Amino acid sequence: MKKWFFYCFLLLALGFAVYHITPFFEDPRDIKINQGEQKEGELIEGDSENTQKIKITEKQIYKGKLLLVNREYPVRKESVKTDIINLFNHRELTKGYGLLDDTIHLSKVMAQKFSKMVDAAREDGVNNFLISSGFRSFERQNELYEEKGADYALPAGHSEHNLGLAVDVGSTTQMSMYNAPEAEWIDKNAWKYGFILRYPANKVDITGIEYEPWHIRYVGLPHSAIMKEKNFALEEYLDYLKEEKEVSAEVEGEKFTVTYYPFSENMTINIPEDLDYEISGDNIDGVIVTVHE
Ligand SMILES: [Zn+2]
Repeated sequence: MKKWFFYCFLLLALGFAVYHITPFFEDPRDIKINQGEQKEGELIEGDSENTQKIKITEKQIYKGKLLLVNREYPVRKESVKTDIINLFNHRELTKGYGLLDDTIHLSKVMAQKFSKMVDAAREDGVNNFLISSGFRSFERQNELYEEKGADYALPAGHSEHNLGLAVDVGSTTQMSMYNAPEAEWIDKNAWKYGFILRYPANKVDITGIEYEPWHIRYVGLPHSAIMKEKNFALEEYLDYLKEEKEVSAEVEGEKFTVTYYPFSENMTINIPEDLDYEISGDNIDGVIVTVHE
């Protein structure tokens, strides 16, 4: 090959590689992306014409939407979402639902998804949503734990609320979510917006938490769709990915490949160059790479 041709090709390949490190969007109908939340992976070089090689660092085990948080696996300080906002000051994101008070905080990306979900519910005639709790700092969680005890709250660092990706939803017309139409709608439809009911009635033995029809967790698509389809709690879904190594999914005509990798030193993964991808840790010992085909 002529030298100049090789250099031209190299430039072109590099251009493509850089262009394609755009964060992949989890809602097929939403191509808005949040630059602040994008992947940590570092592109090393184009492995060949068709793949990009991404370096995975240990800290990536503890970042992302799929982190498992429970009594066994606490939230690390570095895992807390960096786009936390006070919803009271973002009225554009709280149209069509109420806030219990002016201290409700949430990841901005999650608040955008929540807002979309509420819009869709309204079209189905379910329109009395309320957010009663969102992001809680470790300090706030500790206060709750000390005030209300272990039956009501988890110790600081062991609640998904400390991550910024969990929200407690209420109904403005029903005292209890146990038989509110809002809870029923969420159970049926929340997955379409990337949310899961984190503590379902039939998973108490797996989550270790009693049924909470109000507590939803954001994991993003296609994960929420796969979990709904297979009736998995987050614990089960992560076990399933570890066992299968690679899972394909199609959601509303969009194709995804979800691959689990155990973390190891000097780890790199290859990703097709022209596809969007997203990396999340599991908060245990590995990372999950989701490629949008
Ligand atoms: Zn909750």
